Amino acid sequence: MTERQAAAWPGAVAEAQLYVETSTVPLDLDDHYWRVRWDDEIRPGRGRTMWATWSDGEYFIEIWMDVYGSPRVAVASLIWMHNGSDEECDCEPCVDERESDSQ
Ligand SMILES: [Zn+2]
Repeated sequence: MTERQAAAWPGAVAEAQLYVETSTVPLDLDDHYWRVRWDDEIRPGRGRTMWATWSDGEYFIEIWMDVYGSPRVAVASLIWMHNGSDEECDCEPCVDERESDSQ
């Protein structure tokens, strides 16, 4: 992270946290639930644009920051379409499969 990114990061996480009721969103980017992509440096030594995503299965967060900080924060709540480990999954293919199995 650049100094400005590091300075802006806690505020960005706090902004996202306002919408996430299910978990405490960790500041630590090494935390299991964060995935981070760093773009190539446009100018050597100036730092890299970062794009971080986080999800606890209920919410999804995106935080984008260029080398100057100024984060853009987005939060979604998730609707699961299919869950292969749920025997009661009510998506159409699973329901069809259960119905054809029971015949
Ligand atoms: Zn399903």
